[in-house]
Amino acid sequence: MIFAANWKMYLNESDSNEFVKQMHLEKENFVDKDIMIFPSFSSIRSVKDNTLFLPKIVIGMQDCSHEITGALTGDNSINAIEVDACIVGHSERRKIFNESNEIIKRKLDNALNNVASTILCIGETKEEKDKNETFNTLENQLSILPKELHKSQLIIAYEPVWSIGTGLVPSNEYISEVLSYIKRYLNELYSDEICDKILLFYGGSVDENNIKELSKIGNVNGFLVGSASCKFEKFKKMINAI
Ligand code: PEP
Repeated sequence: MIFAANWKMYLNESDSNEFVKQMHLEKENFVDKDIMIFPSFSSIRSVKDNTLFLPKIVIGMQDCSHEITGALTGDNSINAIEVDACIVGHSERRKIFNESNEIIKRKLDNALNNVASTILCIGETKEEKDKNETFNTLENQLSILPKELHKSQLIIAYEPVWSIGTGLVPSNEYISEVLSYIKRYLNELYSDEICDKILLFYGGSVDENNIKELSKIGNVNGFLVGSASCKFEKFKKMINAI
């Protein structure tokens, strides 16, 4: 089971260093675990340098530019800094930054071609769920996947928008049904060999109280956790629970 921490814009560089210092002090909780951390862009270098004591840790970008280089003030190329992973298509990017499927596809291609692991986030809004349009939405979001996968490990994170940061968590049955749908979609697109390598995560209001129960879902390979992952004690509890 993989634990992926999306620190969003919650921790600045000094908060991130403090967090990692705590991890070092209690490293027996983390050394043999599969952990991914997505700090703010400006903290990536420090977090990378200060987590060398964890041989398995993966540090990544929360997003990348749709371009590799060029006149894009304020944007960050996937090659801006060496990272192991990148998230694309997070619902906050889709909603707040109006990112279209077209733009996300270009980001996805850049990530897939340049880093070891790429997380594509997908998920329906409350309105789409209420109108029974969940699978249509997911199909549309998955339609940007390339026909072939070569370099990067693909991870699909199912994150219902209505669950992110709200405390609302779908039942295990609901999540499992959606993940089965995603698996069927991937099976139509890729060979069995490729499908076996693709991982499925759940994300949305995961915390130290519900992660154990959520980890009973048969087809979930990991969790993408936002706000609860920014608090060290919660982070530690969640990692120890799975
Ligand atoms: C996320 O931002 O990917 C997320 C799942 O957020 P939260 O855990 O805060 O709901």
